[in-house]
Amino acid sequence: MSKEIPYKIYLSENELPESWYNVRADMKNKPAPLLNPATHKPMTAEELGHVFCDELVKQELNDTDAYIPIPEEIREFYKMYRPAPLVRAYCLEKKLGTPAKIYYKFEGNNTSGSHKLNSAIAQAYYAKKQGLKGVTTETGAGQWGTALSMACSYFDLDCHVYMVKVSYEQKPFRREVMRTYGAQITPSPSDTTEVGRKILAEFPGTGGSLGCAISEAVEAATKREGYRYVLGSVLNQVLLHQTVIGLETMTAMDKYGIKPDVIIGCAGGGSNLGGLISPFMGRKLRGEADYQFIAVEPASCPSLTRGSFVYDFCDTGHVCPLAKMYTLGSEFMPSANHAGGLRYHGMSSILSQLYDDKLIEARSVEQTAVFKAAQDFARVEGILPAPESSHAIKVAIDEALKCKETGEEKTILFGLTGTGYFDMYAYKAYNDGTMSDYIPTDAEIAKALEKAPKV
Ligand SMILES: *Cc1c(COP(=O)(O)O)cnc(C)c1O
Repeated sequence: MSKEIPYKIYLSENELPESWYNVRADMKNKPAPLLNPATHKPMTAEELGHVFCDELVKQELNDTDAYIPIPEEIREFYKMYRPAPLVRAYCLEKKLGTPAKIYYKFEGNNTSGSHKLNSAIAQAYYAKKQGLKGVTTETGAGQWGTALSMACSYFDLDCHVYMVKVSYEQKPFRREVMRTYGAQITPSPSDTTEVGRKILAEFPGTGGSLGCAISEAVEAATKREGYRYVLGSVLNQVLLHQTVIGLETMTAMDKYGIKPDVIIGCAGGGSNLGGLISPFMGRKLRGEADYQFIAVEPASCPSLTRGSFVYDFCDTGHVCPLAKMYTLGSEFMPSANHAGGLRYHGMSSILSQLYDDKLIEARSVEQTAVFKAAQDFARVEGILPAPESSHAIKVAIDEALKCKETGEEKTILFGLTGTGYFDMYAYKAYNDGTMSDYIPTDAEIAKALEKAPKV
């Protein structure tokens, strides 16, 4: 007899994972190493240590240990807002009239409004343990900057955030949340760094991009004694920390005898998707179970579906190591009408490799369809989703409607990464009917990719 499934499955605090799961240990084709941009040789731990915290460098380079214990201090912090609920979307199923069973893992139950806090607290902890004074980072939409500000104030570290200038201007309240947690915020590009001044000279009046803000934050960290740079997505270490999402989900599902057929997540740099799918991918790689995995990205920034799998720069100023990933080119910018986040030009090397090995699929969706899905979801499930998360909602709904046609009772799981209260300009454009779609041409993508380094 299967147990009756509650609307929300809450695990107890003692069911919180004790280790993160490192999917690289089970991958046959390991993700390609980061390369030194000058020599094109793999980055050594020592080189990476100038930019990143020592323990995080070890995690970045660790391709072999399947489980990495979560320090007790981090587990204590996790207990403030975890375990996160796994929700059975009964109301959405009913509204769609689908025989599919839909579940989502909700990560929006903390002040950062997203899953980003899972890695922010880990990175702040290792910085503190190393005796550093502070960290620098970039933020786009603002969730990562907020999460890191919260984590740094908890461990009494300085936090300096370079915020993409358009977001800085459009989201003054995000900025104030970060300042409330004690962070210093600089709109990027700025004249406070060499690379910022260079970008400003070349593109006066630019609203900035994640790639610019990363370059500035790296420069600020490496030029200041006692500081390191931290990043909210893309890197192996970030995917590792985010596996708490997938591990909790797996525990909850196993407890109730639920087996997902399809697992869906939005993909910006790949951290929430990687975190959600890793433990399930581990089972697939070890031949214990099979699942369909779907990465969802904006049609206006389609790195997996239309990018190339090559070594590329991670930032605009070319101060970071090179990463082999699906990329649109480091100078690619989504068009100005793009509102939904997920605007990074590249993708996690782990997910890129899994995608190249055909272990995951990818789909791109247009933003008006994404906001329609967000609205449909909000009206029945009560949560106002982040635009990023709504990409996953859109494809989950598509899959559930396919089941309605075929009569299949598939179990669909998706990651609901956060809430959208700071994205009301985007919702306003949708509600006003002024939101439009833009799909870059092949020529635009090819042009941005021309600048990729020849490795
Ligand atoms: C940052 C963010 C994303 C995208 O980042 P990933 O690293 O791809 O997970 C998705 N949803 C929310 C709410 C975010 O804040």
